[in-house]
Amino acid sequence: MNAEVLAVGTELLMGQITNTNAQYISNKLLDLGINVFYHSVVGDNPYRLKESIKLAFDRSDIVIMTGGLGPTQDDLTKEVTADYFGLNLINDDESLKSIEEFFKKISKPMVKSNIKQALMPEGSIVLKNNAGTAPGCIIENNSKIAILLPGPPREMKQMFEEKVFSYLRNKSTDIITSLHLKVIGVGESLVEKILEDLIENQTNPTIATYAKDGEVLIRISANSTSDVEGEKLINNIKDLVFERLGNNIFSTIDEELESVVGNMLIEKNVTISIAESCTGGLLSARLTNVPNISKVFLDSIVTYSNNAKINLIGVSEDTINKFGAVSEETAKEMAYGIRNLSNSDIGISITGIAGPGGGSPEKPVGLVYIAITYKDITICKKYNFIGDRMRIRNSACLNALDLIRREYFFNQNL
Ligand code: ATP
Repeated sequence: MNAEVLAVGTELLMGQITNTNAQYISNKLLDLGINVFYHSVVGDNPYRLKESIKLAFDRSDIVIMTGGLGPTQDDLTKEVTADYFGLNLINDDESLKSIEEFFKKISKPMVKSNIKQALMPEGSIVLKNNAGTAPGCIIENNSKIAILLPGPPREMKQMFEEKVFSYLRNKSTDIITSLHLKVIGVGESLVEKILEDLIENQTNPTIATYAKDGEVLIRISANSTSDVEGEKLINNIKDLVFERLGNNIFSTIDEELESVVGNMLIEKNVTISIAESCTGGLLSARLTNVPNISKVFLDSIVTYSNNAKINLIGVSEDTINKFGAVSEETAKEMAYGIRNLSNSDIGISITGIAGPGGGSPEKPVGLVYIAITYKDITICKKYNFIGDRMRIRNSACLNALDLIRREYFFNQNL
C-alpha cells in the first residue's frame, strides 16, 4: 500500500503556515510501513481540489487529506471528495449531537453554518473529533481509501492517534518495528561513514540517518510478522551500531538530551547550578523543561557583563583583564563561582561569542568555552561552532548538556 498526503488550504500556498500536518502524517505512516510517495498542497478552490484528488488517486492507494472541513464557504474538502466518488452528503446525527454538545460545553452559540460540518459522505466511516468541531471521515471505494482529517494540527493529531492509526494498522498485514537511536558529538556524515557497510547492505531491517538540530537520529526499521520477530531483527543491528558508536548514543527511546541529563541527575541526587553568558539562560530553560528537576536544579545566573561575572559569582577582575571574558580561565572561574554560591555538587558555565559581531582573528565568532566542576575535578572544553547566533547558542547548550552526561558517564563516582 502506498499513500499520498494532500493538504488543503490557500494559507499553506501563500506561505502563511507551514505544512506540519504532512510531516506528522508521513512519520506515522513510516511507523505503519506504508510508503508515502507524494506530498501535495492545494488551495481552497473546488476545481483545483478535484484535480488534485484525481491525480492523487491515479498514483496512490490511500490519500490522506487535511483541512477544509470547517463550517465556512471555502471549506470544501468533504463536498469535493464526495463529488469525486459520486457520493451524496447526508446528515450524521451523531456528529450533529457532538457539535451541539461542543458548543454547549464552551458556552458559545452554535451558528447555522456549523450544521454543515455534520454532513458526511454516504457510507463513510465517521471519525469523531474529540478536540474540536469538524468530524473527519474515511471513504472506502473499490481499492481506494480517502481519509479526511481536520486542518488544526492538535485536532488532526488526536484523530490520527485515536482512530486512523489502528484503522491503517488493521489494513496492513506486515508489522513494522522501529527503533530510534539519538547520537550527539558525531556529525551525520561521520555517522554514515561509520555505519557505511550496514547501510549499504541493508535489506531488513533498514537503517537510515537524519541530522536534526545538532543531533543525529538513526532509525532502524524491521518488517516482520510479529513484534517478537521484529525486535529480534532490530536488536542484531542495534548491537552492531552500539559497538561502533558507543557512548555517543544518548537515547534509545527518542528522548531529548535535557531529559536524559536531568533524569540522570535526579536519579543520582546530584545537584547542579549554572552560570551562563552567551546563552542568556537557554541552558537553564532546557534543563527546567524536565519534570521534577527542582530536586537537583538549585540556581542559575545569567552573568552577561564582566561586572556580573565579577560581582555576582566572584570571577577575578585580573582573570578577565588578562585572558578575556571568553576564555578557559574565565569559564572555569564562572563554574567554581556558581557552585560555591549555590553549594551545589556541579557548577557549569558557558561563555562565548555568538556573533554576528564581536569576533576577532584570535577569538572568532562561534568560539565558546564550557566548564564543568564537581568534587575536585574541573574540565573546560573549547568549541568552535559554526552558524548564526541562534545556532551557536543552541550548539553551546547541547554540548554543555552532553558534557555533563559524558563526564558523569566516565566518572561513576560523581
Ligand atoms: P476548522 O474547523 O478549524 O475550520 P478545517 O479542517 O477547516 O478546521 P482549515 O480551516 O483548513 O481546517 O485550517 C484551520 C487551521 O489549521 C489553519 O488556519 C492552520 O492554522 C491549521 N492548518 C491547516 N492545515 C494545516 C497543515 N497542513 N499544517 C499545519 N497546520 C495546518
